[in-house]
Amino acid sequence: MDCIFCAIMNREIPGDIVYEDERVLAFRDIMKQAPQHVLIIPKKHIESLLEAQEEDAALLGHMLLTAKKLAKELGIAETGFRAVFNTGSDGGQSVMHLHLHLLGGRSLGWPPG
Ligand code: AMP
Repeated sequence: MDCIFCAIMNREIPGDIVYEDERVLAFRDIMKQAPQHVLIIPKKHIESLLEAQEEDAALLGHMLLTAKKLAKELGIAETGFRAVFNTGSDGGQSVMHLHLHLLGGRSLGWPPG
């Protein structure tokens, strides 16, 4: 399987890793859209939110709680942040390995473009 995020997880290509545990990995987005922009991925290869199953519920919850933990560590918890799963082509998903964007450090516009 040719997956760039699995390659980062397996240390086959470099990644600016900020957090890792037995279930998830978090690393800085290579094209950051905010002063703090981190991607949180499950170590289990799931293509997108659409492919997630009931059995993945705890993993999805862990990803969200990891976003909260990292928001605190990165200093954006107080000012606010966004956690988002881009899904499918209209959702703007470009990498087919589930990832939660954590963005903060500036005022983010709404609605998204
Ligand atoms: P999405 O467009 O929602 O699928 O998000 C994929 C994100 O992965 C984009 O924001 C890219 O900038 C980011 N990205 C792609 N390749 C890398 C990489 N090698 N290291 C870190 N981030 C990456």
